[in-house]
Amino acid sequence: MIPQVFLKPQRAQPFFGRHPWVFAGAVDRVEGSPADGAEIELRSSAGNFIARGLFNSLSKILVRLYSWQPDRPLDEDFFRERLQSALHLRHNILKLDQPDAAYRIAFSESDFLSGLIVDRFGDWLTIQCTSLGMGVRRGMLARILSECLPVKGIYLRTEKGIGKLEGAELADGLLWGESPPAEIVVRENGLQFAVNLAEGQKTGFYIDQRDNRAATAALAPGRRVLDAFSYSGGFGLSCARAGAASVECIDSSTGALELAARNADLNDLKGLTFTKSDVFNALSDKVQQGAQYDLIVLDPPKFARNRKAVPDALRGYHRLHQLALKLLANDGVLVSCCCTGLITMEQLEDVILLTAQDAKRDLQILERRGPSADHPTAITCRESNYLKCVISRVG
Ligand code: SAH
Repeated sequence: MIPQVFLKPQRAQPFFGRHPWVFAGAVDRVEGSPADGAEIELRSSAGNFIARGLFNSLSKILVRLYSWQPDRPLDEDFFRERLQSALHLRHNILKLDQPDAAYRIAFSESDFLSGLIVDRFGDWLTIQCTSLGMGVRRGMLARILSECLPVKGIYLRTEKGIGKLEGAELADGLLWGESPPAEIVVRENGLQFAVNLAEGQKTGFYIDQRDNRAATAALAPGRRVLDAFSYSGGFGLSCARAGAASVECIDSSTGALELAARNADLNDLKGLTFTKSDVFNALSDKVQQGAQYDLIVLDPPKFARNRKAVPDALRGYHRLHQLALKLLANDGVLVSCCCTGLITMEQLEDVILLTAQDAKRDLQILERRGPSADHPTAITCRESNYLKCVISRVG
């Protein structure tokens, strides 16, 4: 019999409701001594079957749930079916399966695969395991993916801190097939971007911003554009291609700016500038100099990893917006991105409201956006809805 995890009284309702994370505090007892990463059955205090999940005594999330069917083991067939369903969304519904395309194939809880993220960059896949249960299954997952997709290689990327949170010691490296070359070129909205899978940030390219870049580019013709926190130039290049009057990219990472310059060359885009600086300092200097722009993108990294850090994070967003409003000419477009999951759309709008009031500027929200649809949100786990993008007109 597979090991059984029994909940405390009154704690079962979220899991009958298909939330996938069982924290240790909800658990009364474990019967059958499961190994970390092993399959278990979750039961209510009365002993009723709730779901099947993977156990990890080293994580605050003691059990992650995957199936609410009593007789369905979490075996290779099960994960193949889940991955095929994730692929069906991207290929048959969203039609993202284009040559050289970059898109997310599986997004953890959002695809009912808690702890597994798979991205595709043309002929290569990256796998990130953010749970021990998925980490120990990485070989099997890579095999399934190699059977479902005509790819050349599958590479494991690890996120800092996961070892500590999950007790999983994984190292970056090839899981299946050939090693990726130092540069893979992918295509997004007709532009080419060089991606370094083994060393690039995140998994090499921020694919979640694909549609937000297109929405921003649509407003860029004729405008003086400032792309703050540009990384490899995703927003800036999209605006340049759309006919922006000028484009300035700012990032604190030399590697990111070299990649952005390389991408401008790949697309034969001229006249962009790339400045290495802290964005807060660069924007303050520009305010001092009386610089003006017609479109500003703010796409900072995650500012808070836990609740305690949220007030400081909000102050950071507030400061960025204050500076941006000083730099935006009349009828300017402001693109405010926030990838901090702990900050809600409402809180981001509050930051925008306060800064507009202080600056005495009329500001209208034109679009409230999220990540592209290959980063969906499962309605039973809305915690994974992290990326917000608000596009405004500033009078
Ligand atoms: N807009 C990008 C993604 C931005 S990711 C895209 O579309 O691909 C965040 C970027 O902010 C990273 O490239 C990181 O190097 C940069 N960064 C982080 N802190 C910074 C700071 N204080 N000043 C300037 N750049 C910073």
